[in-house]
Amino acid sequence: MPSFDQELRRRLDTIREQGLLRELRRVDSAQGPRICIGGRELINFSSNDYLGLANHPALKEAATKAIADFGAGAGASRLMCGSLAPFHQLEETLATFKGTEAALTFSTGYAAALGTITALLGKDDIIIVDKLVHACIVDAARLSGAKLRVFAHNDLNNLKEILKWADTVRTANCGSQTKSPHILIVTESVFSMDGDHAPLAEIVALKEAYGAWLMVDEAHATGLYGVNRRGLAEELGVCEMIEIQMGTLGKALGASGGYICGCRALVDFLVNRARSFIFSTAPVPAAAAAATAAFGILRQPEGASLCRTLWEHIDAFQKLNAAMYLPLSAILPFKIGDESRAMSVASDLRERGFFVPAIRYPTVARKAARLRVTLTASHSKEEIMALGNTLTPLSLQLSGLRDA
Ligand SMILES: *Cc1c(COP(=O)(O)O)cnc(C)c1O
Repeated sequence: MPSFDQELRRRLDTIREQGLLRELRRVDSAQGPRICIGGRELINFSSNDYLGLANHPALKEAATKAIADFGAGAGASRLMCGSLAPFHQLEETLATFKGTEAALTFSTGYAAALGTITALLGKDDIIIVDKLVHACIVDAARLSGAKLRVFAHNDLNNLKEILKWADTVRTANCGSQTKSPHILIVTESVFSMDGDHAPLAEIVALKEAYGAWLMVDEAHATGLYGVNRRGLAEELGVCEMIEIQMGTLGKALGASGGYICGCRALVDFLVNRARSFIFSTAPVPAAAAAATAAFGILRQPEGASLCRTLWEHIDAFQKLNAAMYLPLSAILPFKIGDESRAMSVASDLRERGFFVPAIRYPTVARKAARLRVTLTASHSKEEIMALGNTLTPLSLQLSGLRDA
């Protein structure tokens, strides 16, 4: 019998042989367009801090003030005694921002998905998810015990087929002892590793036709799309039709935490049933205060201006990369395929001063490795151009490989 240590080393060797080993890279500077790694300054194209708020003076000041007023820690779960004022203020701000009756915050987006889906569904229910949804939704679906069905990415015909099947299950159960199943569809609005959009209006039409519920994860869209920058659902005019709007406060909002927005009954129910909310110490009050300050910036002209800068960067970058398809978000994937090759291109880019992560299995499918460039409002035009000019030859080469 190998020892525990030997067994784990053997497993790590297997991961390494497949080009899939992950290692933490220590960063010795604040989050921003330039970060310090291994004593070198690199231009950072890896962050989801799309508006550059993570290191914004207003967020830092709000966090510092919350520490002064409410301390460093929350002391207990929200239901025990940790429901500090900054969480309530954040949830009121969030509900107003999203235009929903109520909002509930969790320590992370991951915890929000886990708590919500497992609270809403049980083994008699059906959950239908897009093939590319985030791991937290897949994990939540499995944990809920509901029947899990996956539809091909953004494929409405496939979704419709599955809904038809779910409908037959529901009809078969009608009048029987087991309760009629609830059907929940879950999708992201802007997909995290591909940067493309879900056809939300068409999905809404389908869920209405089949009497299903819809949960939309706006992790990469909150703060960036729509007149009030509520997300892609706002841009497509379907907010009112979505039962469960989910997102994170850790990306464009620059802070930390996850949220669920919807009707008052949904929030009251989650307070009673979402285990990741109930059985976990409340986040630090500083995180809530920072997120509230971020919503303050979004509402001001500064928020609009940051968003404009981000889209200008995306346009400028796209123009340099003739071979790349039209970007729909600040997430720009350069698909490479082979894991080891993606790693070596990323390492090459680091040598040239750019930090661009290589994304591999299990974040994406095997042999679907890619460079994932994310642009932010805090990059300078020169930084964007420098990366674009470095990547253009590579991009041409990659599209050549694809066409060959
Ligand atoms: C990042 C992310 C999450 C998780 O949010 P955290 O606050 O980081 O836990 C959920 N869904 C998607 C699509 C994400 O990209």
